[in-house]
Amino acid sequence: MGSQVDVYITLVAMSGVLNLFLGIYAFIHRKDIPNARTFLIYIIALSLYIFGFAFELASDSLAEIKRWIVVEYMGMPFAAVFGLLLIFHYLGKRVPRFAVAAMFVIPVITLLMVATNDAHHLFYKSIYLRTSSPSPLVDISIGEWYIVHGAYTFACLLAGAVMLIRRWPQSRGTFRPQHVTLTFSQIIPMVSSFLYLMGATPQGIDPVPIVLSITSCMYFWAIASSRMLTIVPIAKEIIFESMREGVIVLDSARRIVDYNPALAVLMPEAGNWMVGRKLPEAWLKLTGTSFPAGETIDGLEEELEWTTGGRKLTSLIRTSQVLGKGGETLGTLLLLIDVTEQRRLQDQLRQLAYTDVLTGIANRAQFFHLGKLMLKEAAASRSFCSFLLFDLDFFKRINDTYGHDVGDQALVHVAKVCKRSLPPRAVFARYGGEEFVIGLPGASMKEAGEVAERLRLALSGEPLRMQSDLLQITASFGVAEYAGGSGTLESLLRVADAALYEAKRNGRDAVMLAAATAESAE
Ligand code: GH3
Ligand code: MG
Ligand code: MG
Repeated sequence: MGSQVDVYITLVAMSGVLNLFLGIYAFIHRKDIPNARTFLIYIIALSLYIFGFAFELASDSLAEIKRWIVVEYMGMPFAAVFGLLLIFHYLGKRVPRFAVAAMFVIPVITLLMVATNDAHHLFYKSIYLRTSSPSPLVDISIGEWYIVHGAYTFACLLAGAVMLIRRWPQSRGTFRPQHVTLTFSQIIPMVSSFLYLMGATPQGIDPVPIVLSITSCMYFWAIASSRMLTIVPIAKEIIFESMREGVIVLDSARRIVDYNPALAVLMPEAGNWMVGRKLPEAWLKLTGTSFPAGETIDGLEEELEWTTGGRKLTSLIRTSQVLGKGGETLGTLLLLIDVTEQRRLQDQLRQLAYTDVLTGIANRAQFFHLGKLMLKEAAASRSFCSFLLFDLDFFKRINDTYGHDVGDQALVHVAKVCKRSLPPRAVFARYGGEEFVIGLPGASMKEAGEVAERLRLALSGEPLRMQSDLLQITASFGVAEYAGGSGTLESLLRVADAALYEAKRNGRDAVMLAAATAESAE
């Protein structure tokens, strides 16, 4: 019997030493361990309990035993709470300070109760030396607070275990060993203290102090083998799951191995069927378009468009290599950022930058851009190209008589009428105020003059309809032709402007062809 107790004491002491080693290990590596402080305090609390227990067993008087019991309770009730805090941290849950403080209320009362038990007997109703045992083991009968303390400690372990089990479905393969380890480190003390309280342990021996060394070993293994507490693995998974960007993970053979839920926003068809498929094949199914990259897809940064459910989507695709610890390529990560809305706004802005807000036709800047291209083309293909400038006649009068709003309506009307009478390739723009310009690729002076005449007739033949009467609008036209040579757009427009001025001078509502070419106007 005595030797059995010795074995028991030795086991408990070994458990304490193991626990201390774990504490030293964690202390040395504390920089790599997030929340290392909680972990270290947890270990210290556990050590107080285990060593206190070992000394209790080795004591030979009731008074001495009681002193060591106080030491045990300086550790054990607190260890349960610190253990739970570690689980919270592991699962990426934040606990507010006041909640942390509240969690320690019962352990503090427990410690006070144990220390002052002789005065009230609320923790132990009675505590006495076992008469049957040669070594001084104690038997107790439990008091009210003992039940509170026992239930609370049990609840802490249970809460940790339940949280871990509930998170299991989200736990990914590589992190599952840690997850299992942690879960069992909660369940094992629970089961063993339950057995002890039920009186199911041999000789009524409390197995928890020894069992705790097993769970410490499990922690130790987890830290040493996969740095469990250093990577907050589940928190990483939460990020992966809750990211707004879509993610596809490929292995080195470009097969899909994983994806996140956000992918469904860009690819409603995304699902487990993709796993194991080659990316180009899955991509075609997902988007109806083929994946652009050729040999290598690393470092890709490209905007891709596809249509799903009648909605055109624009997505920025970024890829990056996933490297192993030794720097070897394990696979590729595809990040898909939904830029549909940005693109839409950009297109809108671009549209605004190139068009005249009032009439909806091209603006001056856009005309210069397109006009220069037109000249380049004409020069390259040695073909004609003409420019037409026209200014509305007596426009000030319209403004003065009917007001600026009607003036605006008149401008819109002119643009509408002219657009109808223009050849398809013509570039029609508002040059400024009530002046318009037209570029006619491939048109000679004569052809451009005909176009101008057509416009002039269309305008004078279609007055602006107002509430009570019709507003007659006419314009004067100047035409210039590019026929090779060094004429620039600006010089051609000057020539056209001179012709327009002539048309005004000749009485307006007229077309004037420039007498000279651009070159002679330089
Ligand atoms: P002319 O036959 O000689 O061209 O006579 P005009 O009265 O048209 O003279 P001018 O071309 O110099 O007048 C331009 C007028 O057009 C002056 C300006 O108030 C008016 N105008 C310019 N831009 C706008 C506009 O966006 N809306 C309105 N309502 N009027 C404009
Ligand atoms: Mg004018
Ligand atoms: Mg005018």
